[in-house]
Amino acid sequence: MDSSGRPSTAQLVVLAASSALTALFYSMYRGKATTANRLKEAQKLSIDQDLKEILLEAPGRCVPYVVIEGAVKAVNETLKSQFVDNCKGVIERLTLKENKMVWNRTTHLWNDTEKVIHQRTNSVPFSIGSLDEDITTTVRVIRPLEASALQLETTYENFHPTKQSFSNAIGSFISGERPKGIHETEEMLRIGDSITGVGELVLDNSLMKLQPPKQGYCFFLSRMDYQSLLRDQESTMRLCKTLTIVFGVAACSTLVYILWKKFSRFREGKRQRRMLEEFNEQQRLRGQEMGIEGDAISPTSCTVCLTLERDCIFLECGHVCACMQCYGALPRPKRCPICRAYITRVVPLFNS
Ligand SMILES: [Zn+2]
Ligand SMILES: [Zn+2]
Repeated sequence: MDSSGRPSTAQLVVLAASSALTALFYSMYRGKATTANRLKEAQKLSIDQDLKEILLEAPGRCVPYVVIEGAVKAVNETLKSQFVDNCKGVIERLTLKENKMVWNRTTHLWNDTEKVIHQRTNSVPFSIGSLDEDITTTVRVIRPLEASALQLETTYENFHPTKQSFSNAIGSFISGERPKGIHETEEMLRIGDSITGVGELVLDNSLMKLQPPKQGYCFFLSRMDYQSLLRDQESTMRLCKTLTIVFGVAACSTLVYILWKKFSRFREGKRQRRMLEEFNEQQRLRGQEMGIEGDAISPTSCTVCLTLERDCIFLECGHVCACMQCYGALPRPKRCPICRAYITRVVPLFNS
């Protein structure tokens, strides 16, 4: 806050940043709350012989939002793990990440960074079948890669370190980047994994399909069970809510502080103006008592005796308004006749 009562740049930055973060986390919280509520209200269906009956009776042979739990079953072909024997799945994701240390010019430290340099996801058609081996009913999953919350299982992981040589060391010294190596991972959704699917269930001829639901509803495929998936969504929602409150309180208190400072500054200015008016009025009365006309008083004369020149400065207020004699005559504790601030020091003025 500067002397004019305007908020400082830092205060405005804090206010703007905390307001923006409040709005951001609030909108995320609203989104998460809607998703969690819809997930809670979704129809839970079990994969059995009745499922087709339910769909046949449903309007348009479609149930808009359902939860089904079961196991991953291949339709025709399967994907084989490129690294692990007898590991078969329906989704395979290969990722190459480059790990390196980057020199930070501001902090003068080497920071670890990781960058995806290559990623490939393969998938083959698959279904969700019952965990009970005797039940042959399955639900085909359509466009599984559009689903959120699908955490694949890491089936292979390897780190290939970069060979360190003298020329590399020189190179990293010049470029400010020190390569550490390549991190290679293979993740899969394996046959037989238990899976929870949340989406639109339709009957297309005799094929039951779980597909991305209509706009606004979230399509989930998760290796967690339904209750864990719901808890996970609710905990994210609570985190967003907490962050909204934290940044909201920060934004409000910054705003209140700025307004309070502005108001104090305004009140202080008003008090000083009123005191000056009172002082001028008293000075006019004193002039009348002493028989001096307003015009006859020199603008640089002492405001107390109206005769001698002002020749001292009062600190800390800085007013130059009296002569040394009148200063000496002020009652203790000495206060400035203009602003009533306590005088801690007085410095004589020498006009030359
Ligand atoms: Zn005086
Ligand atoms: Zn003063």
